[in-house]
Amino acid sequence: MISRAHEAPQSKSPPQVRIDLAELDLPEMEAALVAHGQQAFHARQIYRWVYRRGKSDFEQMTDLSRPLRARLVDEFALSTPAIRSDQRSIDGTRKFVLELADGRQIESVFIPDTPSMTFCVSTQVGCAMSCGFCLTGKMGLVRNLTAGEIAGQVRVLAKATDLLDKPFNIVLMGMGEPLHNYDPTMKALRMLHQEHGLAISPRRITLSTVGIVPGLERLAKEPLMPNLAISLHATTEEQRTALVPPNRKYSLASLLDACRKFPLKKRARITFEYVMLEGVNDSPDDARRLARLLAGMKAKVNLIPLNPAPGIEYTRPSDERVERFAQILAERHLTVSVRKSRGRDIRAACGQLIVEGGTKKSAGQQMALLLRS
Ligand code: SAH
Repeated sequence: MISRAHEAPQSKSPPQVRIDLAELDLPEMEAALVAHGQQAFHARQIYRWVYRRGKSDFEQMTDLSRPLRARLVDEFALSTPAIRSDQRSIDGTRKFVLELADGRQIESVFIPDTPSMTFCVSTQVGCAMSCGFCLTGKMGLVRNLTAGEIAGQVRVLAKATDLLDKPFNIVLMGMGEPLHNYDPTMKALRMLHQEHGLAISPRRITLSTVGIVPGLERLAKEPLMPNLAISLHATTEEQRTALVPPNRKYSLASLLDACRKFPLKKRARITFEYVMLEGVNDSPDDARRLARLLAGMKAKVNLIPLNPAPGIEYTRPSDERVERFAQILAERHLTVSVRKSRGRDIRAACGQLIVEGGTKKSAGQQMALLLRS
């Protein structure tokens, strides 16, 4: 249920904005309860209900006293994204359209058996990066997600797929650029890591970024460090600027420099994602250049043959061409994988997330929808 009313109804005192507990990490929740005259330890109980048992209705938190539950209902909100649609692909992938408290919609994807269970989560409504091959980029940025909305997707998907008490991975590869919404993204990771909640290890989380260099430099100092994936996609400055416009500001050279300096744990490697576009960046020369750029780095390469979509002017290369490219990298001792695109029949694959429906659409969203049809 989404909490629409953030203002306490029928309160005797003047209407006050209710604090949304979904936005708070555990220390903040403890402080909020204490400020409302409650004991701090109830925050741990609430955390368990919300994150481990998927409950967002205070009335159902049965180890809290009735009077406390009534006070919580009166004084706090607990916003949870509402599932507006749940589409299943023939390959088992599920695409969820989630509605947020303000009526905006986002998409989150469940990808089973990769061999792990994986949730692909959004960090923004839309995206400002405008990569030419990505449908989300056509929407433009509508707004950032809050920490509670980012973590909320995981709560909702884990409950819907019955995985609340089972291991799963999270990839921040849905709509949006996580390092363009840095603080809420990192706070969401801390909330998901909380031991009284889902206790998700950062090793199970991958943050994928277009390569916002100052964001990477901040990330390098985080105590809670997710795995890192870089959307590289090109091997020369010119080619990358054409495909990934932020390259104008954060050049390929400065990005690779930040990657070389990035602190990695033993055995950890940076994943370089490389979307393959026929006749644009998929030649044997591109492959050789890519191998040279990554030489000596703790790197692996994930090739993503383009998932085509209406309005996207590029073409997916043949399997043979992808294979040849992969081979050149492998011969140069790079670990390389080809991403199997899951959920293409329900437009749930990489770069295909775009929200339809809902009443509020920005001009960019409307244009992107026109492009789709
Ligand atoms: N903004 C982040 C995360 C979201 S996209 C980033 O850029 O990394 C996750 C991955 O899907 C990125 O590597 C992105 O470049 C890729 N992608 C986008 N559109 C695609 C498409 N149409 N086909 C295949 N991969 C695509």
